[in-house]
Amino acid sequence: MHSFKNYINGEWVDAVSGETFDVLNPADGKIIARCAKGGRDDAKMAVQAAKNAFYNDKNGWRRLGVQTRCDMLYRLADALEKEKDSFARAETMDNGKPLREAIGDVEDAVSYIRYYAGASRMPGGASYEVNDGFGPMQCFTVKEPIGVCALITPWNYPLLMGVQKIAPALAAGNTIVFKPSSETPVTSVKFFELIDKIGFPKGTANLVMGGGSTVGEELSSSPDVDMVSFTGSTPVGQGIYKNAAANVKKIGLELGGKSPNIIFADADIDGAVEWAMVGVFFNQGEVCSAGSRILIEESIKDEFTSKLAARANAMTIGNGLDNPDMGPLISKSHMEKVLDYIETAKKEGCRLVCGGRRYTENGCGNGYFITPTVFDNCPPDCRIVREEVFGLVVTIQTFKTEEEAVKMANDTEFGLAGAVFTSDGAKALRVVKEIRAGIMWVNCYNPAFIEAPWGGYRKSGIGRELGADGLDEYAETKQININLSPGELGWYEKR
Ligand code: NAD
Repeated sequence: MHSFKNYINGEWVDAVSGETFDVLNPADGKIIARCAKGGRDDAKMAVQAAKNAFYNDKNGWRRLGVQTRCDMLYRLADALEKEKDSFARAETMDNGKPLREAIGDVEDAVSYIRYYAGASRMPGGASYEVNDGFGPMQCFTVKEPIGVCALITPWNYPLLMGVQKIAPALAAGNTIVFKPSSETPVTSVKFFELIDKIGFPKGTANLVMGGGSTVGEELSSSPDVDMVSFTGSTPVGQGIYKNAAANVKKIGLELGGKSPNIIFADADIDGAVEWAMVGVFFNQGEVCSAGSRILIEESIKDEFTSKLAARANAMTIGNGLDNPDMGPLISKSHMEKVLDYIETAKKEGCRLVCGGRRYTENGCGNGYFITPTVFDNCPPDCRIVREEVFGLVVTIQTFKTEEEAVKMANDTEFGLAGAVFTSDGAKALRVVKEIRAGIMWVNCYNPAFIEAPWGGYRKSGIGRELGADGLDEYAETKQININLSPGELGWYEKR
């Protein structure tokens, strides 16, 4: 078993309280790591280290120059790539996901760091033609780092969600305090070991493990934090939004979803079944953009449902290290929450098509496994249609017309993602334009790319990650006006 400490001001340190917490492998319930349990004091120390590094260190991160920063980020990406296998195994043991998916996550993380290392050297800011009837003026903008950024992440993509924030925040010249989920801190600690080896200036990147109601609350409410970027559930995000208002922090929120997957009768049905599987069972369904509401044209419902159930029933389930189709859910409490949703759905009149039970066969008795679950005949107001289950449960509802499909798709408080399956290109685009969501797919589900912005409408969040927008989130814009005739009052005299 490994023992892990927090990383504050370039040092590995125990929690001020001396407390620790255990991290379990969800495939068998065994302890895999013991971690320093930071609290408010640890978070305050980390914020002060990041603040000092940003504002006072003459040789600090933001003053190193963009080329040096870029080179260091490339070295970080190279170091991560070299340790791809050990990171992937650690991620699978910590989170449960199949090893091949964990390998994909590490590869994406390497690519994200390289993308933002390069992007940091691209031109930023703009110049503006201004009203020179008032006298010769030059107006332009520059991009500057925001300051101390607190980055808070969930457990479903532990390394990737962290890197998705850490890479652009550092590339833009900020200093950071990072808090991973207490369910899955292992690859974050390993990542900070690489940061330590590469030798970023002290205080540039700080890691504090610990609870959301202590470390997380301190970070979101601290007057010394200039920005908070959070990925997690909508209720927690709402609390962070309120805390951030106290010093009007810049904020980024990547929150929950209940995304519609709309399938028309003219779609390639077998293809739609395969993508629906990816949409809802990839990563055990613990995906913010999961296509957890299938809306299907009535005439093909029976054929689609029986094909989907046959595919779901054939999925292999097991320890992620053995590369099954699906691993365990993240924790005992999350498994119980999902089982509770399943029982409630039955009581609310939904028809269980397949799955819907804990899986204990083939050595899985001590882990947190559930069989992939499909419900149909789901009433529009039942809980599994309205709330984010965040695990391998999909609902099927039918529509008769395009208009009805759009109305049902938008009947949610979320707005993260969605998909349309049809062979009619014009219909696909018409529907896509009507759906109130930040990411839409046509004839596929879930592909995401570092080059393009990711984020939600409505209660699914504020702001965008990935792509150029993702770098811009971590930058302030400064307007600069230069009087080209210093001795003249031109502009002022005309007022
Ligand atoms: P969560 O909201 O419970 O926790 C997320 C993080 O916030 C954890 O690090 C947690 O310790 C911390 N936290 C908890 N309470 C806090 C508080 N009061 N103040 C500050 N921080 C606090 O979410 P989770 O269960 O870890 O993750 C699942 C959720 O994440 C789902 O709702 C999912 O949709 C969402 N998610 C969204 C995206 C996206 O891109 N939109 C991506 C991944 C996950």
